[in-house]
Amino acid sequence: SAQPEVHEFQAETRQLLDLMVHSIYSNKDSFLRELISNASDALDKLRLESLLDKDLDVDTSDLHITLIPDAEKRTLVVADNGIGMTRDEVVGLIGTLARSGTAELRRSLAEAREKGVSDAAAEELIGQFGIGFYSTFMVAEKVTLVTRKAGETTGTRWESTGDGTYTIDDVPDAPQGTSVTLALKPVDTEDHLYDYADKTKLRQLVKRYSDFIAWPIRMDVEKTVPVEKPESESDEDTDKAPETKTVVEAETINSMKALWAKSRSEVSEEEYHEFYRHVSHAWDAPLETITLQAEGTFEYQALLFIPTQPPFDLFMRDSKVGIHLYVKRVFIMDDCAELMPEYLRFVKGVVDAADLSLNVSREILQQDRQIRAIRRRLTKKVISTVTEMRDSRPDDYRTFWDGFGRVFKEGLVNDPDNRDALLKASSFASTHSEEELTTLADYIGRMKSGQDTIYYMTGESRQQIVNSPHMEAFRAKGIEVLVLSDPVDEMWVSAGAEFDGKTFQSIAKGAVDLDADDEDSDDTSKDDQEKAYADLLSWLTTTLSDDVSETRLSSRLTESPACLVGDTFSMSPQLEKLYRASGQ
Ligand code: ADP
Ligand code: MG
Repeated sequence: SAQPEVHEFQAETRQLLDLMVHSIYSNKDSFLRELISNASDALDKLRLESLLDKDLDVDTSDLHITLIPDAEKRTLVVADNGIGMTRDEVVGLIGTLARSGTAELRRSLAEAREKGVSDAAAEELIGQFGIGFYSTFMVAEKVTLVTRKAGETTGTRWESTGDGTYTIDDVPDAPQGTSVTLALKPVDTEDHLYDYADKTKLRQLVKRYSDFIAWPIRMDVEKTVPVEKPESESDEDTDKAPETKTVVEAETINSMKALWAKSRSEVSEEEYHEFYRHVSHAWDAPLETITLQAEGTFEYQALLFIPTQPPFDLFMRDSKVGIHLYVKRVFIMDDCAELMPEYLRFVKGVVDAADLSLNVSREILQQDRQIRAIRRRLTKKVISTVTEMRDSRPDDYRTFWDGFGRVFKEGLVNDPDNRDALLKASSFASTHSEEELTTLADYIGRMKSGQDTIYYMTGESRQQIVNSPHMEAFRAKGIEVLVLSDPVDEMWVSAGAEFDGKTFQSIAKGAVDLDADDEDSDDTSKDDQEKAYADLLSWLTTTLSDDVSETRLSSRLTESPACLVGDTFSMSPQLEKLYRASGQ
């Protein structure tokens, strides 16, 4: 073919490569997991494609992953006979950072660059983004990818040493699927670079990171076997040691067990963690592992995880639900939005349903009774798991809440059926403690006698809320107020939430009658005061008529001379801002 084309990496990709190449990231081993994970995805996609497209002329009878280490040449090949990539896909997926996190990663890289990229920053970024294919540059001097897409005739070679450029080239005779060849860096255990051409090491890594992969991962191993001799000969000298020879055999080095089909006691924490990393494409450890096995009319198994770290795209418009759907062990689709409500989009994992057709489409899923039943059950299970976590592992719960509470509370608006359970599982900042969060049950337990509503105030920050003049009287009387500073709080409190028969009452709206249950409240003195201030009040009302609808005397204030109060049914300033921001 013609000369290979030389392409330049985008500036951001180059930055990232630089981080990878020079990273001190101690978990360099994980490059293998990333390559195997990609190969496994490619095999899943090919099987699915061949089910959907009967005209696709490919052999799917022996889908597998192969590891070919070469100790002399110091190379490692990771190959699959999966879906492969077209030339355009190679340029788009491998030559650039095509992952959904690109924008966020760019931002982080720019920031890191400004600060002068330190090793620690690099390590942090890698851990946070889990850069799949590019992690190969942590261990390789040169990476060569050869691929041919199923159904296409010509293949593509992509090659880079991880500096500014890569080359791309046609390969007329490439086998279908993808092979990635790593020219390995010298072993340097101090730098966490091990011998990745060593079969024992590779076997170890596969066991640790990729054992559950549903496709066989094969490697040639040398085996010593007895030499078989004809009967007559072996009879002659029986006391001689049997002769042996060395043969090379492809061995499957992973156990391929579907973790979700196993009972919890059969699976180690570490196996669950690695599986989590595989399905979530994340590099953290799960905070919580949830298993669910339903028998009866709808048979299904689910293995779900709550991450420790919120992903960077949690609040982005294209943030996806993280559930993969399998039917009888066959991968059907990822990001299956029908299986989990949007406010639980941070939950990752798989659902394996026994009675769905392999041809199931997203359109069919939306109508499917079974899918809806599974979704209801999973939703309840996740909520109850969070509640249990709160009661038994407060520190983990706090990590969860700090990372995902804002998303979780979207359910208070969008999922009225589960609102009670969600309120029970939620925690809130309050004036009771500066650091600790409170449950609503605990709040109610501390309510003053005669208090029949849950007081709250919304705002942009704790600071802004607790310093508000509205707070003064509550502080003076020792009445606890929930401090709600997430944008979503405004939505659910105005959606008419109730807890344990108590309504929620904003301290910044309408007339909050704190004196009602004060024994020493003195109606006559109030009347007198109103008379005394009548002229001032009407002058203020007229003078400020463009900005306020009424001026009245208040018992709310103990320190400030005046404050602005919203109508009981008007929008709060936060809600107004929200609507404005969303263009309404
Ligand atoms: P991710 O796997 O999270 O999408 P990667 O950097 O690991 O990110 O891979 C980028 C993309 O390149 C993949 O999404 C996939 O489309 C493509 N790809 C990588 N490896 C393979 C492979 N072995 N076969 C087919 N496509 C692949
Ligand atoms: Mg990947």
